[in-house]
Amino acid sequence: MRIILAGPRGFCAGVNMAIESLELAIRFYGTPVYVYHEIVHNKWVVERFRKLGVVFVDDLAEVPEGVHLLYSAHGVPPEVRRTATQRRLKTVDATCPLVTKVHNEAIRFAQAGCTIILIGHAGHDEVAGTMGEAPEAIVLVQTLEDVDRLTTPQSAPLAYLTQTTLSVDDAKQIIRRLRQRFPEIIGPAREDICYATQNRQEAVRVLSHRADVVLVVGSGNSSNSLRLAELARSTGVPAYLVDGPSEINLGWFSGDESVVITAGASAPEAVVQECLGLLQERFHATVESCVVREEQVRFLLPEPLRSMAAAQ
Ligand code: SF4
Repeated sequence: MRIILAGPRGFCAGVNMAIESLELAIRFYGTPVYVYHEIVHNKWVVERFRKLGVVFVDDLAEVPEGVHLLYSAHGVPPEVRRTATQRRLKTVDATCPLVTKVHNEAIRFAQAGCTIILIGHAGHDEVAGTMGEAPEAIVLVQTLEDVDRLTTPQSAPLAYLTQTTLSVDDAKQIIRRLRQRFPEIIGPAREDICYATQNRQEAVRVLSHRADVVLVVGSGNSSNSLRLAELARSTGVPAYLVDGPSEINLGWFSGDESVVITAGASAPEAVVQECLGLLQERFHATVESCVVREEQVRFLLPEPLRSMAAAQ
C-alpha cells in the first residue's frame, strides 16, 4: 500500500484560533467555560474540551447569568449577542474572521436595500448566524433547482453570498445559474468560500487521480470534510469520511492500492496520524507527503484573551 498524505489538510487558521481561545479561556477563567455550539465541528476536539470542563450549549437559557461564554468559530446571529448581554454573560468572540466577513457583507447589502441570495446548507451554524444579520432580506438556496424556483421582489436589487465551506464547483454552478436568471445580481468583492476550504479541495482534486481510495478524516457534521469526500467521489474514486481509526473498515482495502489521506479543517493531526498508523501496521504502507499548496495564514486571538496572553 502507498499512502499519499495530502497537504494542506486539517486545522485551518480559524480553527486554530478558536481552539487556542478556548484553551486560554480555561486557563484564565477556570471551568466551567460555556461555548455556544460546538467550538468547531469535530467530535474529538469537543470531547477533549468536555473532559476539561467545557459546557457546550445550543440555547443560552442553559447558561447561568454572569459566566464566561465563547462564541464558536462558526459565528452567531445578533439575536444571540443581545440575549447574552441581557444575561450579563462575559462573552469572547472566537468567530473566524472569514465568517465575520460574510456577516459584514450581509449587513452591507441589506443596508443597500438588496435582497440577498445566500448559497449554503440549511441548519448549519454558520448559515443560521449569517441569516440572523438580515432575516427579512436573505433567502437561502441550496441547489440549482432552488435557484430555478426563486421568486424575488422585482424592485429590490439582488446580491448573493455563500457559506465559507461549500464545494467550490457546486457554488460556481449555482452562481452561474443565478447570473443567467438575474444578470444584474452582484456578489462579494472577494469570494466567500475561504482559502482553507479551497486549498483542501484543490489538493483532493489534484491527488485523487493518483488514488484508488481516498480517506477523509473529519466528523459527519463538518461541512468542509463532507465536501472533500464528495469531491473525491465525483472523480470516480471511492472515498470514506471517518472520525478516527475505529471507523476504518479494513475491508475497504486489498493492501496494494494507493490511498490518499486528507482531513477537514476541524480534524486534529493526531487523529490523522492514528489512522495512518493503523494502515501502516496492517498493510506495511509506505508514506509520501504531497503538499499541493503552502499555507501561512494566522488569525489574531480575540480580546480580552489576546491582551491577557501577551501580559503573561
Ligand atoms: S474553514 Fe475557513 S471559514 Fe471555517 S474556520 Fe476555517 S478558515 Fe474560517
